[in-house]
Amino acid sequence: MSITENITIVNSELPKDAILIAVSKTRSIAEIQEAVDYGIRDFGENKVQELLDKVDSFDSSMRWHLIGHLQTNKVKYIVGKVYLIQSLDSVKLLNEIEKRYAANNLVANVLIQINIGREESKTGIYEEDLPELLESIEQCNNVKVSGLMTVIPKGTFEENCIYYKKTKEIWEILKKRSYTNISMKYLSMGMTHDYKAALSEGSNMIRIGEGIFGKRNYNNN
Ligand SMILES: *Cc1c(COP(=O)(O)O)cnc(C)c1O
Repeated sequence: MSITENITIVNSELPKDAILIAVSKTRSIAEIQEAVDYGIRDFGENKVQELLDKVDSFDSSMRWHLIGHLQTNKVKYIVGKVYLIQSLDSVKLLNEIEKRYAANNLVANVLIQINIGREESKTGIYEEDLPELLESIEQCNNVKVSGLMTVIPKGTFEENCIYYKKTKEIWEILKKRSYTNISMKYLSMGMTHDYKAALSEGSNMIRIGEGIFGKRNYNNN
């Protein structure tokens, strides 16, 4: 199926007010352009260099989301280039984002990435480390948190639902409190193989790569 046909299908399943991010990692400018022509403006990339290479090929109506792990030494390259950093997962990274954005008089919009499945192979913060991070975010002048993001372990629909429900519960708890610099607007969860479970548990931002562009072939790029 074509990129536009795939987008039509995913869009038809998307609740009103939910956002579809087309994950364009490994994809060509031409493939991204096809999605742009169809009306998509939110794109997700997981590598800083690849994101930077692509940003300049498109106009400023594009909203680039950094969805992969962000190393502190790369923060300086993305200042002012991304719409949302979805992968804040440590106080150390927070401090670097604060410093680099302050130096440029800009505010970084970020999501906190939670490692809800507690997988060692995955990045994201553990639930018990959240209070320390939240406290540090409250001291910032150039960072605003607008929600949570998670990537869950592979599993069945029912297993997916358990992790997404847990994440939603944390999101709801934080939403009820009033923190400085923190609002719970976005709940970014759901990828090609589990977005139906994510939507059923209340996701309002899904990140779809293969379900839009077809199977990734890392060797081609
Ligand atoms: C690659 C990636 C996606 C998209 O994965 P698909 O299975 O292709 O939909 C979503 N989120 C993150 C963090 C990713 O790295």
